[in-house]
Amino acid sequence: ERAREILESVKERDETRLGVEAMELLDAYGIETPQGAIIDDPAEALEVAEDIDGDVVMKIVSPDILHKSDIGGVKVGVENEDVYDAYEDLITRAKNYQPDANILGVQVQEMVDLDNGVETIVGMNRDPQFGPLMMFGLGGIFVEILEDTTFRVAPVSESEAADMTKEIDAAPMLRGARGNETVDIDGITETIQRLSQLVTDFPAILELDINPLVALPDGVKAVDVRLTVD
Ligand code: ADP
Ligand code: MG
Repeated sequence: ERAREILESVKERDETRLGVEAMELLDAYGIETPQGAIIDDPAEALEVAEDIDGDVVMKIVSPDILHKSDIGGVKVGVENEDVYDAYEDLITRAKNYQPDANILGVQVQEMVDLDNGVETIVGMNRDPQFGPLMMFGLGGIFVEILEDTTFRVAPVSESEAADMTKEIDAAPMLRGARGNETVDIDGITETIQRLSQLVTDFPAILELDINPLVALPDGVKAVDVRLTVD
């Protein structure tokens, strides 16, 4: 029901893109997201950062900036003492990129341990012919270059979702190749299914990407999500 509320409020505001509220949608469907918050002043950013163990990640939040890292809008490994500067710098970069950009604030997030994890992508595109096409692949900022992905029409069964995790070229990376730890494959499988359920429940969702879904040895975390509704 929370999910319905979020999508209805987007519709009322006449928007088609959903950024951070999409994180709440994932939450409503039991998909884990990193600890954190969106704030619009540096003092609050520091408060959020202080509540999080260790360094944080800070990201610009703007419906006008789709690929945040392309404009230097993602800072990883920010220490508490650098939070103020990082906040101002993110806002400056966004304004330099597009002076009239609608800047909603800055997201302060728990750091996810990428050294022991694999960045994957789970997404959906509504195809006029086939319907909702679920996608799984290797994620991160190189996803377009690597194009290591596989597809199924939603709703996907558990065995279909499990098959998807086996089909990509990078499948061995998920299963402990080269001395890496094996990541939580069941967690990925479950996430694909939960997302498949979400897009089945809400036909208004035209497009959705979790990129990256970081797969860790003991779970998965949806670090970044983008969504388009009609
Ligand atoms: P965008 O895709 O808009 O550039 P992301 O939020 O996906 O922004 O961040 C880009 C990259 O930064 C991610 O692919 C990941 O490598 C890294 N990153 C983002 N958030 C975190 C996080 N919470 N912990 C660790 N690394 C992160
Ligand atoms: Mg991303």
